[in-house]
Amino acid sequence: MIVMKFGGTSVGNASRVRSVVRQVAARRAESPIVVVSAVGDVTDWLITIAKLASAGAPYAQRLETLEKLHHRIISALGLNRNLINPDIKQLRSQLRDVASSRKLTAKALDAIMAFGERATCKIVAQCMLRSGIPAGSYNSYDVGLTTDANFGSAEVLHSSYPAIKREMRKLGNQIPIITGFIGRTKGGDITTLGRGGSDYTASIIGAALNANEVQIWTDVDGMMTADPKIVRRAKTLDEASYDEAKELANLGAKVLHHKTLGPAIRKGIPVRIANSLNPSGHGTLISKDISKKQRIASITYSKSTDYLEANAPDSLRADRGDLTKISIVGKNMSTIPGELKKALSALKDIEIEMVLSNKSGISQSFVVKERHGARAIRQLHKEFFGA
Ligand code: ADP
Ligand code: ASP
Ligand code: MG
Repeated sequence: MIVMKFGGTSVGNASRVRSVVRQVAARRAESPIVVVSAVGDVTDWLITIAKLASAGAPYAQRLETLEKLHHRIISALGLNRNLINPDIKQLRSQLRDVASSRKLTAKALDAIMAFGERATCKIVAQCMLRSGIPAGSYNSYDVGLTTDANFGSAEVLHSSYPAIKREMRKLGNQIPIITGFIGRTKGGDITTLGRGGSDYTASIIGAALNANEVQIWTDVDGMMTADPKIVRRAKTLDEASYDEAKELANLGAKVLHHKTLGPAIRKGIPVRIANSLNPSGHGTLISKDISKKQRIASITYSKSTDYLEANAPDSLRADRGDLTKISIVGKNMSTIPGELKKALSALKDIEIEMVLSNKSGISQSFVVKERHGARAIRQLHKEFFGA
């Protein structure tokens, strides 16, 4: 059994949805379970619309654009036009409540964001059925995933694992299409797992069912030596260790939600990151044992300044402005002393606000002003990867 998770770009329009259906159908012999995210940037839109509603600003036009986006996909796929009408009706009513109370709680926002994943789930399942493949759409909580009530960043309850196993067994021979990102409390309130959390859903389901592999299908060829949006010539890693990939995700690499690897590691399940727009590629296989143990794996960055709260002297805290934390991840960072020197020399024309040695021992971070961030990443990439 495998879990195949498809992100926003992978389901961004009708032809991509068709392609997802083909990719899943091609792996039918491996008993795939599919996890999907919201279409494109729909989650961002939902947040914007909810904020407008709570500010008493007009939002009807944006809401209509969002509805049209889904309807365009639905009609291009030849599916029933009413497929997501109940969800749209519910969304409208939730937004009306926010607008009239002028209040947007984290709880209300989670319920609103859930629209995105629910809509994709129904679209993909219907498209599969249309292609003659038995499939069904399910909310994660219909198949056992329960969370605490930490809205916006909910934690999955341990009891979810046996519950998912039990519930999924009841589904028979069909291919289940499951909502990523969202969950529900025991009391029935909708929650979300944190932005980008569909990856995490896939890993939870994979761990619950002891999958052979959890596959994260996205819009790049795998985990790369840097974010290709910043370093055009970044290279794809064929393989990465759990440690390297976890460190990269924790230090900001958007390609993998930072909690994803936890459940997979506990069960020793390999995680593959691959490109749904180039499905014949090998992707990056993340597992315990990899052949290249000593190396620099990748350079990543995060805009978050949380780490400053704990580490910064008062002077810097008061004036922290916009900073970027750039991290070099790889075993060599702690084992080969020359590597730090190399990094500092690559950054010699950039003012470094702070150098941080991370607890893991397999990464080194540098804090620079945000405006120097992209250049610093490129210079480090050139130094360590020659491009
Ligand atoms: P999805 O919608 O499929 O979940 P995301 O946008 O969340 O996709 O993640 C994929 C994006 O992550 C890529 O388009 C890329 O810009 C970014 N990214 C950041 N760091 C890396 C990295 N080291 N390797 C690959 N992609 C990265
Ligand atoms: N749609 C959600 C988000 O944009 C979850 C995800 O993409 O994984 O954060
Ligand atoms: Mg993502």
